[in-house]
Amino acid sequence: MTKGRPWHKERLFFLISSARHFVAVLEAKGFTVLYLQAKSTPAGIEKAQAEYGKLPVLCAEPSSHTQYAQLRKLGVEFVENDFFLTPRALFTSWAESQKSFVMENFYRAQRIRLNILVEGNKPVEGRWNFDAENRLPPPKSYTWPKRLLHSRDEIDKQVAKELGYEPTDSWATTRAGALKQLKNFLDNHLAGFGPYEDAVTLDEWSLHHSLLSPYLNNGLLTAEEVISACIKRYDQDLAPIESIEAFVRQIIGWREYINGMYWFLGPEYKQLNGLEAKRELLPLFVDSSKTKMNCVKQVVTQVETRAWTHHIPRLMILSNLALVTGTNPQQFLDWMREQFIDAADWVMVPNIIGMGVHADGGRLMTKPYAAGGAYIYRMTQYCKGCDYDPKKRVGEDACPFTTLYWDFLDRHKAQFSKNHRMSQQVNGLTRLTDLPELRVRAKKVLQGLSDGTI
Ligand SMILES: Cc1cc2nc3c(=O)[nH]c(=O)nc-3n(C[C@H](O)[C@H](O)[C@H](O)COP(=O)(O)OP(=O)(O)OC[C@H]3O[C@@H](n4cnc5c(N)ncnc54)[C@H](O)[C@@H]3O)c2cc1C
Ligand code: SF4
Repeated sequence: MTKGRPWHKERLFFLISSARHFVAVLEAKGFTVLYLQAKSTPAGIEKAQAEYGKLPVLCAEPSSHTQYAQLRKLGVEFVENDFFLTPRALFTSWAESQKSFVMENFYRAQRIRLNILVEGNKPVEGRWNFDAENRLPPPKSYTWPKRLLHSRDEIDKQVAKELGYEPTDSWATTRAGALKQLKNFLDNHLAGFGPYEDAVTLDEWSLHHSLLSPYLNNGLLTAEEVISACIKRYDQDLAPIESIEAFVRQIIGWREYINGMYWFLGPEYKQLNGLEAKRELLPLFVDSSKTKMNCVKQVVTQVETRAWTHHIPRLMILSNLALVTGTNPQQFLDWMREQFIDAADWVMVPNIIGMGVHADGGRLMTKPYAAGGAYIYRMTQYCKGCDYDPKKRVGEDACPFTTLYWDFLDRHKAQFSKNHRMSQQVNGLTRLTDLPELRVRAKKVLQGLSDGTI
């Protein structure tokens, strides 16, 4: 996993250093650890078998179809993975009982099954969902609590040296550090999590987000302990229901649903390209200096710096751009997979192929998350510092998102007009008196993005 692809070094540092620290923890507990560096996991197992004979190999269920198949071929015995709260067979029986895979339905069933924020079969405080109170735009003058900075020990320094990279102080590489991050979130951010979960500001990159996904995905924390700690705060009346519910939804709803769907949809799902999107990956993804779009430049810069940005920039800026430009989904998926600290196949594939770029023909989400500049203007603080005007769809200073949003609907109108959740958006095209001009501008914008000049 360290060679052959342009992996973000922040990601490599985090994963390798966490593994090395884990070795030290196991050894301190008296286990014998064989820490092998091999070309692949199967090659490593074969190397160990050559040394120790064909002892039984036990493995937690892995995080990708490819690795699952490779390990199965080697005769490995799988153990249910405590990274998740929902056994795969249980998710399959839920999915098989559904006509469409609506996350909200899964989430409500999870609340009841896991006995979280429910009284019997009813939600506490009378509602399943507090979205109406949340999803506020960025606050005007607001003091964000200080972020936790993670210091580096000798193991970290050694890994950083081997990688020739100076890591940021954003990520812990030990269980103690991950627990500190959890406590910091609970003490300083949980209460404010809900209202600003969709906002994007210039003065703070993590807002009230937990920054826990890397640890949940590499095992430094379990979903079970994170959710119990959160519910304890609710029981002690230390955070309002709209924030508690919003966070619980992410952990027992979205995270479990995405993992369940990855295994349910099978290995072929990753290759879908339902909108026949053929554009090569735009140069701005690889180099933030290749764009003048302020929102995209700032978000790609964040990713370049620390391999993370929160869910709205991932969905409404990066994926939205790939969607409306018709970028090849697999190339975009590869880039996201390589760049993000918390990326793994199980989580990137449904989030990109299904949610981000609608390459699955709507199996996961009934409509694509396409948006023009108006959404970005409302939910972020990027537009004021931009060369483009979010309200304009034609002309040299038209916002590329606004132009391409309409052009995207125009290009796919035959397909989308059959979708009742899209028909209103598609009908909007008939009100555009400047559609011929917009089509010309869209061609220019697409060329400019491919050339790295927009
Ligand atoms: C296009 C796209 C790609 C994404 N890629 C990843 C990825 O590679 N790895 C990853 O862990 N998350 C991914 N997510 C989900 C989400 O963006 C991140 O989990 C979140 O930004 C991580 O920061 P946080 O821990 O501060 O999250 P918070 O906002 O504090 O949320 C709490 C937790 O909820 C879970 N969660 C919320 N939404 C999702 C989701 N859609 N899928 C899985 N878990 C979710 C995460 O474990 C997260 O830590 C993606 C979302 C989108 C839209
Ligand atoms: S005007 Fe358009 S390109 Fe510029 S920051 Fe706003 S949404 Fe992004």
